[in-house]
Amino acid sequence: MLQCREDVLNYTKQLVHIESIVNTDGEKVIAHSIYNMVLSFPYFSQNPSYITLEKTLQDDQERYNVLAFVKGKKGNSNRTVILMGHIDTVGVEDFNQLKEKAFSPEDLMESLKNEELPTSAKEHLYSGDWLFGRGVLDMKSGVASNLYLLKYYSEHPEELEGNIVFLAECDEEDSSHGILSALKTLNHWKKEHGFEYAAAVNADFVAPRFEGDENRYIYKGTVGKLLPSFFITGAETHVGSAFEGLDPNFIAAHLTTQINYNPELCNEAYGETTIPPVSLKQTDLKPTYTVQTALSAFVYYNFFIHSWSPKT
Ligand SMILES: [Zn+2]
Repeated sequence: MLQCREDVLNYTKQLVHIESIVNTDGEKVIAHSIYNMVLSFPYFSQNPSYITLEKTLQDDQERYNVLAFVKGKKGNSNRTVILMGHIDTVGVEDFNQLKEKAFSPEDLMESLKNEELPTSAKEHLYSGDWLFGRGVLDMKSGVASNLYLLKYYSEHPEELEGNIVFLAECDEEDSSHGILSALKTLNHWKKEHGFEYAAAVNADFVAPRFEGDENRYIYKGTVGKLLPSFFITGAETHVGSAFEGLDPNFIAAHLTTQINYNPELCNEAYGETTIPPVSLKQTDLKPTYTVQTALSAFVYYNFFIHSWSPKT
């Protein structure tokens, strides 16, 4: 099976070279590029209705998902596995002076040799086992593996019992317009082709659980996410009469003190514990400097759950 390494690596590099930062035109470009790539596989040239480039629904941004499927010819099972992955990435501001190279793994790795790096990153850089660049791990290499499998089974449908659906979705890093829009096509195919969806495999990256952890984890099930948000209206006052008002920033800070990193707000299920909530945004709404205290503030927290609901 190891002969797939070169193919997956090449697909990964090809995808990383397309700047597909979420909420930019790059999302459109990468979807078209994947669509054309898959369409050029002989199986899809012969079955063009087995692939679709679909525009997202109710979205201000123009962007697309690519969906395709292979019908297995071994037996007559309708069981279907969805191989899914997102094709957008986060931004590159954190690359600082190297951000021009964030999408060119070879150039980036060359330049990184002149930078001061943490020991583990340095080891990875010189090991030849790692590729650096925005989106390599999160998650174009995952999409690349799915592409490899799609191509392989499109050439060997007689080895496939059941079907596979390939799904490359946009807007994972922001508002999930991609996956939400894809449900329509998945349901449509379910009716039209009798697909019985048995599993969905999301090939996104996994992280070590502790320093030096050599395991590669496969997580079953899903993790839920809440985003408890607070809008705080204080009572404004001139800063010289501080006690005649109530500063909303003060209340927000108190909330954060109680919620952030609080292990009591970790949710355990089946021996697995979520990481505690952390704020993703905390700000007042004052546009510029004045000597009046802020009128209002808001704050929201990332809140992972395994079994709790918004009620509990
Ligand atoms: Zn991801």
